[in-house]
Amino acid sequence: MTAVVDTFRSIVGADHVLADPDVCRGHETDWTGRFQGTATAVVRPGSTEEVGAVLARCTALGISVIAQGGNTGLVGGGVPRPGGRPCIVLSMLRFADLGAVDTQSMQVTAGAGVTLAAWRDHARRAGTDTPVDFAARDSATIGGAIATNAGGSRVLRYGTMRRQVAGIEAVLASGETVGSLAGLPKETAGLHWPSLLCGSEGTLAVVTRARLRLVPLFEQATTALVATRSITDAVALLALVRDSVTSLDAAEVVMPAAMEIIVGHLGRRCPVEAPSAGCFVMFDCTDRFDPTDQLTAALAADGARPLVVDAAVATDATQRSRLLDFRDRITEAIASAATSLGTPPFKLDVAAPLATLDDLIDTASRVADHDGARLIPFGHLAEGNLHLNFLGATDHVAIAAAVLGRVAELGGTISAEHGIGIAKAPWLHLIRTPADLAAQAAVRKALDPAGILNPGVLDPSPPDTSGTQEP
Ligand SMILES: Cc1cc2nc3c(=O)[nH]c(=O)nc-3n(C[C@H](O)[C@H](O)[C@H](O)COP(=O)(O)OP(=O)(O)OC[C@H]3O[C@@H](n4cnc5c(N)ncnc54)[C@H](O)[C@@H]3O)c2cc1C
Repeated sequence: MTAVVDTFRSIVGADHVLADPDVCRGHETDWTGRFQGTATAVVRPGSTEEVGAVLARCTALGISVIAQGGNTGLVGGGVPRPGGRPCIVLSMLRFADLGAVDTQSMQVTAGAGVTLAAWRDHARRAGTDTPVDFAARDSATIGGAIATNAGGSRVLRYGTMRRQVAGIEAVLASGETVGSLAGLPKETAGLHWPSLLCGSEGTLAVVTRARLRLVPLFEQATTALVATRSITDAVALLALVRDSVTSLDAAEVVMPAAMEIIVGHLGRRCPVEAPSAGCFVMFDCTDRFDPTDQLTAALAADGARPLVVDAAVATDATQRSRLLDFRDRITEAIASAATSLGTPPFKLDVAAPLATLDDLIDTASRVADHDGARLIPFGHLAEGNLHLNFLGATDHVAIAAAVLGRVAELGGTISAEHGIGIAKAPWLHLIRTPADLAAQAAVRKALDPAGILNPGVLDPSPPDTSGTQEP
């Protein structure tokens, strides 16, 4: 393999090929610690041409390529997997360039390695804002967010990453560059690369740059944490709030078990007094004018009053940030609890029709009890998107089979925003027909005949189990 590593050095420069196992380890293990494998090298290209040359060489040599951004993915798609052909991790972090903000088109061009936080800070300096945001913002990249069609808290107002990509530049397995960064709001000229590549999880091409939509920056913001008796009441309350609050940016759901863990992690009291609460909702509003009256009036309206057990409202930046911690830092709290237990959390990111969320949580609770695991559910209420975290779980396959099976029966999806990766590939058949899967495989084969791009990801065929997937 030394000769192969030397080949990559000749393309991207010796400093940008990492082959020391100690240095590579951080790129080979995922954020949760649940997925890991070994790469021949971590290759860090600095230009589209270098990406093209690396991919062409990998196609010729039959070496798999795992594109990687911030390595915050939660389904094992951005790290090597055991077994199969040798692979490289293609780290895209050197693509950190941000173009000038175009306030006329409300767009900006960003490199695939730009973090969501850098994108947001850049946009804000120009008086604009970004439509996608979530807790992993300091590490998660534009390339990763496009590849996973990431969501986050603002989906309610602006949609997922797919809606934000007005243009894309990407490199195929052959080494050829495709796409356009023109960012034309209207164009009907056949294949639309942003549509094809958003959500493709590094299996069709490597994204190098994107032309991204921006949204207005609203200086006025109000946040409310509301306790309700049940998730069904929370859904009813959301409908009332949506109806009258035009500035609604986010409606995040925190179930009592998640509140308990975040309260312990932050070492602060729950901001609402509601021992009987069966659910909490974090409403976040932003606008040009102070949205406080609009939000509080909606929460106090005749229809809403019986649904609200207690509420805490914050308007200044410091108070808001302290309140938002109770949602934003739950993933971190779960990771910390898992570390104490000595076993990574088992995570299922799912979505189901709003009217069925109660059923879904009941199912997950029963499954957790049966396994002896502790269920921590939270998520994005408006999209029916629940993150079901099982702490101390033993039988992951049985949990996934029961929960994902029920999700499919309810008309939901086995992945709302984290992607399918390796973790959920065996369950794809629950929500996709054989014809869907055959068409997807055919597209993949057409763009990557040698099958070098992220093998195993989004692939429902039985995985290579010659190594252990989970430590
Ligand atoms: C604390 C925390 C909170 C999170 N909250 C959310 C949330 O609210 N919403 C949400 O959607 N996700 C969330 N996530 C999941 C994760 O942050 C997202 O999936 C994110 O989009 C991954 O970006 P990344 O740069 O880290 O990608 P990586 O983890 O590096 O890769 C993810 C996938 O994208 C592919 N990929 C990466 N870069 C490229 C590229 N340039 N070209 C082609 N393919 C590429 C990889 O091969 C892999 O399949 C959270 C994660 C954490 C740790």
